[in-house]
Amino acid sequence: MSTRDPLGYYAVLELHHEASEEQIKAAYRRRAMVLHPDRNPGRDTTEQFQALNEAFEALSDSAARAKYDTPAAAPTAPAQPPPEPIKCSACGKVSAQPRVAVYRSVRSFLLVTIRKPISGVFCSECAQKKALKASATTWLLGWWGLPWGPVYSVQALLDNMFGGTHPPLENARLLAYQAYCFHALGRHDIAFAIAEDGLKFCRKIRPTSRQAALVIERDDLDRRLKSFVAQERPNAVRLKNSWKLANRFFAFHAGAMGLVAAAITLAIVNAPLYERTFPKGPMPYSSQALAAGAITAPSASVARQMPPPPVFVRPRTAPNGKPWPMVAGYLNGEPQTRAGGHSEITIDNGQNDSDVFVKLVSLSGNIARPARQIFIPANGKFTIKSIEAGRYDVRYQDLKTGTRSRSDGLTLSETADARGIRYSVMTLTLQRARNGNMAIHDLAEGEF
Ligand SMILES: [Zn+2]
Repeated sequence: MSTRDPLGYYAVLELHHEASEEQIKAAYRRRAMVLHPDRNPGRDTTEQFQALNEAFEALSDSAARAKYDTPAAAPTAPAQPPPEPIKCSACGKVSAQPRVAVYRSVRSFLLVTIRKPISGVFCSECAQKKALKASATTWLLGWWGLPWGPVYSVQALLDNMFGGTHPPLENARLLAYQAYCFHALGRHDIAFAIAEDGLKFCRKIRPTSRQAALVIERDDLDRRLKSFVAQERPNAVRLKNSWKLANRFFAFHAGAMGLVAAAITLAIVNAPLYERTFPKGPMPYSSQALAAGAITAPSASVARQMPPPPVFVRPRTAPNGKPWPMVAGYLNGEPQTRAGGHSEITIDNGQNDSDVFVKLVSLSGNIARPARQIFIPANGKFTIKSIEAGRYDVRYQDLKTGTRSRSDGLTLSETADARGIRYSVMTLTLQRARNGNMAIHDLAEGEF
């Protein structure tokens, strides 16, 4: 088909372009007689007959014919399709305020912690959902790796809570294009608002002295955006900022943060046996048991709390002034307090080839005070009985090396129920290598 007969209408009628209306009608009648299906039994001419009718319809109407003839006579450039605004990569909707946004999710497994950025061009609605999902993943899976799981998790959660990252260059490019689209579509008010947003991102692009290409791109974006702003200013509107921080999910992020902070605090406060931090300082220690007279007569035993000589020499006598016993037991004459309960602690020195001097120290009250003082020989063990419920720790001195240590704080409980009295029974294994069943801490002299 020639360019002057793009759909072949003249050819179907076997006519040239200058044919008159009469000629067209005559040609149609002649060809119709030939091609009519009723006149062609055994031969399918339906398609040709339809083409003939279509050609006649187009060429018999003078307006339609003029239109059919025009493109060939005066060819024009095909019309540009309008530009397509950028759509949200999640929901596919066109948004006046899309953003390139990056959120972080963290997953950990033991020693491996993986940080995964979740990025895309999002409408504000989808961005909020992405942020929430990234945070939920982090809440569930981020913590369980050492050492970086908790650190990265907190970073990611805060970052997502405060809207993630909006890289300025990508957003300036995106908004420059979006402004152009809305301008081309005739939405000049929106184009103005978008261009203003884009300029804000443009100002945040800070190339270093080595990024010459970035300087050029930024200046180009800046010029384009400013020209939109200038051109569309008569139509200026301000869009409602759909990216403000106080979105409807902010409370979820903040609430979850608050809950976990509260849970951690509660866990620390209530940790019964394995609390990690021992109350240092806040609880002064007195080597005197809380017994009548003991406080007003500090004399002898305080005098023995002298700085130890550089090389430890085992004292000849126990603090009670008598020789160290041969078997495990309480030191004669030292007061025994907090003795009205049922709980028991067995101190097992079976792993140790040194004799030890042990104090069970009560942490109830403002001053920590020894409740029992016990000698346990190398490889021996001793069970402290009838201990009242309360907070305690165990402090002991290795009588071979002079090393002083204490256990973590521990809580003994005692409750009565229908089946009787329930109380705590514990065993502490003292080991020189300090890998027994308790966390062990060095102890200052004044605290023993
Ligand atoms: Zn969306």
